[in-house]
Amino acid sequence: MGIVWHRRDLRVADNAAVASVETPLPVFVLDDAVLEHASARRVAFLLDALRSLREDYRALGGDLLVERGDPRDVLSRLADEYGADAVVWNRGYTPMARDRDEDVRAELEDAGVKVRTHADAVLHEPDEIFTNAGDPYSVFTYYHRKWVERDKEGAYAPPENVVSTEGGGIPTVEELGFPTPEIELPDAGTDAARELLNDFLAEDVYEYADSRDYPARRSTSRLSPHLRFGTVGVREVWEATEDAKRDASNEEARESVEEFQAQLAWREFYTQVLYHNPGVVTENYKEYENEIDWWDDEDEIRAWKDGETGYPFVDAGMRQLRDEGFVHNRVRMVVASFLTKDLLVDWRVGYGWFREKLIDHGTANDNGGWQWAASTGTDAQPYFRIFNPMTQGERYDPEARYIKEYVPELRDVPAEEIHGWHELTDERRDEIAPDYPAPVVNHSERREEALAMFEKARGEDD
Ligand SMILES: Cc1cc2nc3c(=O)[nH]c(=O)nc-3n(C[C@H](O)[C@H](O)[C@H](O)COP(=O)(O)OP(=O)(O)OC[C@H]3O[C@@H](n4cnc5c(N)ncnc54)[C@H](O)[C@@H]3O)c2cc1C
Repeated sequence: MGIVWHRRDLRVADNAAVASVETPLPVFVLDDAVLEHASARRVAFLLDALRSLREDYRALGGDLLVERGDPRDVLSRLADEYGADAVVWNRGYTPMARDRDEDVRAELEDAGVKVRTHADAVLHEPDEIFTNAGDPYSVFTYYHRKWVERDKEGAYAPPENVVSTEGGGIPTVEELGFPTPEIELPDAGTDAARELLNDFLAEDVYEYADSRDYPARRSTSRLSPHLRFGTVGVREVWEATEDAKRDASNEEARESVEEFQAQLAWREFYTQVLYHNPGVVTENYKEYENEIDWWDDEDEIRAWKDGETGYPFVDAGMRQLRDEGFVHNRVRMVVASFLTKDLLVDWRVGYGWFREKLIDHGTANDNGGWQWAASTGTDAQPYFRIFNPMTQGERYDPEARYIKEYVPELRDVPAEEIHGWHELTDERRDEIAPDYPAPVVNHSERREEALAMFEKARGEDD
């Protein structure tokens, strides 16, 4: 019998740690040191996922033990109480997870308990793929080329037996000291994840390459919170996409599936960036000659957070974040560019806001996305990466359907005037949407300021 310590792998099927034990005794530890960094929304999703995991274990004749405390104490106590041969878990790659796991391992081994860890959250671990010179990759395209060529493990079978036991109750968000989330959360749990995956693979995946950038089409998988909390296994997703590829009716549809698979590689690319550069959690990945002289206008930051910038595409994204805890990828790029290049605000401010509001927030992806948009991350090119918030909206939401969904003040305004909002006179704006603000900044002017700021940081101002 072995204790399986669940963390970001809240499922019984396709779980390497679970599959490695003859008769697992599953445990989840609510650790205050981790909860300190969480938000009400993510904790609510997590608790829902735990309830679903507990049901799956009950169906197998056991239960999920949900304990609160320091995992070192909890796991040592349980190993002793149940006479476990070993404690096993799936490896984590963030600096915090790695430090904690080392501490827990040391404590257990000192007490004479064996520890085994497994690769599970990714198809390829961060120490698997390197450049020919042996360095970690900093450019996605080259990383992806190797990632895609490598053989991938198949999904693990669910357990047949589990230790028969009775777990305690699962606390509520409020009992853990968080406010009640003010939004409706998506369903957590494996069934919800499978349903999303199956729906997506039935049709949308074949159009993904063409549709993924258009937020109104709702054509992406929405699997991100499930991949984040492990309510779906990445091998299961991979295998299902390989099947979809085989079923594709033509080359274009096949390539579309591959485009989706490439997003799984982005996730693993950022995982290895964080693993090999743990400092990026708080520091720029890219080193500039001089400090970047970020601005910090509180009113402008507030307007960005509230979705009141007067740039409709940006505001729709920020309101989607507030109302749903999710934002479409294209729009994440645009709002992140707007904060860092139009408001010239440090990416850490935006990252902090996303961390509080996103249900799928994960250190590697969120940090990677923010630093990429801010031109401080991998593959940084400030000249090419200043998104124009009006033309982005015009191109990716031509009929302003997405904008109108989240910005009701603009519902009766024709799309051309929404995309040309910055060029309208104040009188015209007052006439057609009196409750929607005029642009808080002038994009063309701020673009110049942003370029000057980066030139100074690069030491090119003299
Ligand atoms: C500023 C910024 C912040 C971001 N923060 C996060 C975050 O906290 N958590 C997160 O999971 N993603 C983050 N992303 C990446 C991406 O926006 C989301 O993964 C995606 O929008 C989730 O929607 P989906 O599941 O429908 O994606 P799909 O298009 O269906 O993609 C499938 C899966 O691939 C992964 N993926 C897709 N795009 C990316 C990407 N660019 N980078 C890394 N992985 C990707 C995700 O796990 C996603 O669920 C961020 C992007 C930016 C620009």
